[in-house]
Amino acid sequence: MKILLVEDSQTLRHATSALITNAGHEPITVENGEAALQLIENTPVDMIIMDVEMPGLSGFETTRLMREWLGGFWIPIVFVTGNSDDDSYREGIEAGGDDYLIKPINPVILEAKIKALERITDMRNQLHTLNKKLETLSQIDGLTEIYNRRTFFEMAKKEWLKTARMRQSVTILMIDIDHFKLYNDHYGHPAGDANLKRVAQAIKQSLRRPSDILARYGGEEFIAFLPDTDRWDSIHVAERIRQAIEDLHLEHCKSPTQKSVTVSIGGAISAQTTGINIDDLVILADKALYQAKDLGRNCVSIRESKPAKRVLLADVDPTTLALFGSALQTHCQLLTADNGEDCLNLARQTNPDLIVLDINLPIINGAKVCHALKQKTKTASIPIIFISKHTEQAQLRISEKVGADECLQKPLDEAKILSKINHYLM
Ligand code: GH3
Ligand code: MG
Ligand code: MG
Ligand code: MG
Repeated sequence: MKILLVEDSQTLRHATSALITNAGHEPITVENGEAALQLIENTPVDMIIMDVEMPGLSGFETTRLMREWLGGFWIPIVFVTGNSDDDSYREGIEAGGDDYLIKPINPVILEAKIKALERITDMRNQLHTLNKKLETLSQIDGLTEIYNRRTFFEMAKKEWLKTARMRQSVTILMIDIDHFKLYNDHYGHPAGDANLKRVAQAIKQSLRRPSDILARYGGEEFIAFLPDTDRWDSIHVAERIRQAIEDLHLEHCKSPTQKSVTVSIGGAISAQTTGINIDDLVILADKALYQAKDLGRNCVSIRESKPAKRVLLADVDPTTLALFGSALQTHCQLLTADNGEDCLNLARQTNPDLIVLDINLPIINGAKVCHALKQKTKTASIPIIFISKHTEQAQLRISEKVGADECLQKPLDEAKILSKINHYLM
């Protein structure tokens, strides 16, 4: 074992070090608590023998900080002290120590204590390895030995966030074995199972990037998440998978479409992950899969998720802003302006699909903003919705005068906002 010895007295450091070496272990020595804390950050040790009385951080303080830093990872810590009263004994254990050695150190007792703590360390290591194995097992589908659906979504959602930060495109592929019921009916379920395994492994080998995630989605269906993959790449990968399965030449004499096992693949690509969520892309990939089945199976069909529509909201009222935020966050990209001038500039720069304007706006009021937008060719065709506390009729009169398309009367709620705006987002 690597044993870290923390001892300020040079004489004792040498003596105890020799005892540790004689007991068949490797000592690493430092002369104070600060140095011990620094050392364990980079050097793994199996056990720590710590002097209690030291200048600077005491042994107890060092231990408290060490336990905090190590978190759930346990390393045995044994204190060395000349002070054997009950209170300091209790304090040491509470600080996170596991045992005590009384000065002067008896070599036989030191060796025995190291042996006892080594046994516990071994058990901790076994438990750690076992936990790791269990964790891996719980992520893997027992039959096909690829990830299961739960793990797929856990991992893909993490990748999704990363992709969003880097503004990369992503692809989801749904891969389904063709006429697999007929296969099972003819060759039997055990043969079907063996087949599923071979298909899964062949798909896995067709995915070449370490960041690609493959899982069994359920039954005879697989799902793959491909980060940083655009339309061209995804067609390429899907086609490679389809070909790999065809090349297995697994006999399927009952298939009405081909005399060997084949897969149909539906893919969905999104140029960016903002404005949509992973479930939307899975639904789209599923639709594409249906299309591939309709097209005669053993083929690939890819769809592109349409970029999210942009809505520009100009309003100063925090309640309205919050309501629009929660009503529209998954439906579109929401841009906001808190005065008429910014609204005009943003409209020119971003060319939104819809503008929602409060009539009462600072700097330039809503009616004037609307009028200006309708005068300019670049923004004239953008639909505009007015919001105000005025009655619908009063708003209509203003709208007509300045050219707004619709009005929304306060007080607002999410349902009211969505029902008014929904058809602009299609
Ligand atoms: P399609 O080309 O339209 O996908 O036809 P299909 O027969 O593959 O589709 P369907 O959904 O009708 O049937 C799927 C079959 O997959 C049903 C079941 O017999 C088989 N299957 C699902 N899970 C397993 C499994 O774990 N082991 C085996 N052997 N077969 C499975
Ligand atoms: Mg000391
Ligand atoms: Mg099928
Ligand atoms: Mg299926």
